[in-house]
Amino acid sequence: MTEKVFIAVDLGAGSGRVLAARTDFSTVTLEDVHRFDNPGTELPDGSYWNLIGLYREILEGLRLAVQRYGEKIVSIGIDTWAVDFGLLDHRGSLLGMPHQYRDSRFEGMADLMHALMPEAEIFEKTGLKTNFYNTSLQLLAEAQRKSPGLLHAENLLFIPDLLAFWLTGEPAIERTIASTSQLLDPHTGDWSDEVIQALGLPRKIFGKIVPPGTVLGPIRKEVADAIGMDGIPVIATASHDTAAAVAGIPISDSDNLWLSSGTWSIMGIETSTPVTTAEALSHGFCNELGVQDSVRFLKNIAGLWLLQECRRQWVLDGETISFAEMAELARAAKPFSAFIDPDDPVFATPGNMPEKIRVWCEQSGQSVPADKGTILRIATDSLALKYRVVYERICALTGRSYPRLNAGGGGIQNELLCQATADALGIEVIAGPVEATSCGNVVTQMVGGGYLKDFTAGRDLVRRSFDFKVFKPQDTDDWDAAYANFRQTIGL
Ligand code: ADP
Repeated sequence: MTEKVFIAVDLGAGSGRVLAARTDFSTVTLEDVHRFDNPGTELPDGSYWNLIGLYREILEGLRLAVQRYGEKIVSIGIDTWAVDFGLLDHRGSLLGMPHQYRDSRFEGMADLMHALMPEAEIFEKTGLKTNFYNTSLQLLAEAQRKSPGLLHAENLLFIPDLLAFWLTGEPAIERTIASTSQLLDPHTGDWSDEVIQALGLPRKIFGKIVPPGTVLGPIRKEVADAIGMDGIPVIATASHDTAAAVAGIPISDSDNLWLSSGTWSIMGIETSTPVTTAEALSHGFCNELGVQDSVRFLKNIAGLWLLQECRRQWVLDGETISFAEMAELARAAKPFSAFIDPDDPVFATPGNMPEKIRVWCEQSGQSVPADKGTILRIATDSLALKYRVVYERICALTGRSYPRLNAGGGGIQNELLCQATADALGIEVIAGPVEATSCGNVVTQMVGGGYLKDFTAGRDLVRRSFDFKVFKPQDTDDWDAAYANFRQTIGL
């Protein structure tokens, strides 16, 4: 078949990209078309998306893609992180600028929400435990403030939905991102009227939900004029980036344990039914929706954020150090000299991470790391051991074991962590692809547009196209002993 090109727009923390996936459907290659900043913008009343600026960057990326690939372009799909949204009036005008989730509107909202409906009931109805950032809490904050936006809203669109609406004029809510709202019933894939009503939110703003892969329609004439080509359809891809990442990791029904490794680590399984037991809630698991009607039963774990923040501090201190150099320093350091709990809230906020790690070790009566390598080794070992805690809980909650862990995302470039993960879990880690999110974005477009039969074919395409590294468990006795110490140190 002649070459086709699918365009993925991926907006992540700090930066955004327009990528092209070139494929003859035997393999696929990804090419960067345009990169740009995506900074949260702090205003007196909170943190905001710079949405108009981003939209212009997307148009520029599409214009460059048209220049480079012309008529080969098949479709466009957009993914971002979860939960954030815009509110629109009856004419489709945006009512106020969308917030980014890292802002203070959430304070007190979880308690207020749980007074309206207990968390256990919300978990049973939405599959999501309350995390500080859920859409539910953002909307509750808007309701508390009697925000004019919410008062006049006719429609809620999540960020990828909103950008797709601006490109096409078609308003639609894509299901994977809607499932992170804590307002959607994962059993039906539709809004939970009971939760929406209990929170006193206006039901009319929660419009029609479409499954990932839905063709929304062609770009508007104004967009076509701006980018130099008309008629390109926009597809509501797996628009939540983690849903896209999991669609892009080649798992199968019998081998469905995955890790999305990036700023955050998210471990879970792809399954067909939500797990909403009290144990799942007490261990902080969530049920989000994925491609082909799947449920992603998952747990967020502090991820490479720890290492990113170490690097940021060292750069502030005037040093230049790459992630690859950091991994080498950690590799050369002594293992298991001390442990931290990567999920301790103290590590969740920006700040002097090397110092936070030193203080944590000191306060827990352990040896205090004196050099960069040891700090990084402690963070790496502790992450791998925390993955094991989550892995064991997944096995217990689902009543089965898993043959291997399929890891994708930028974090798999840290091979020390991949090996440590295999050693800690005692199972193989298959690492790939690094660009799992973009792979999932374009595979969803290919399935939605009828170019591939299903996601099994999509994942086969990914498997054929990228190098996968296998990490086999080693030194498992040492890691078992370290795990016992780790659990004791973090109070498990
Ligand atoms: P995000 O989740 O924000 O999209 P990425 O998937 O891009 O993040 O992953 C970024 C992380 O990958 C960085 O924090 C860093 O720790 C790790 N990383 C990136 N490149 C390398 C490298 N060459 N060696 C080791 N680690 C790397």
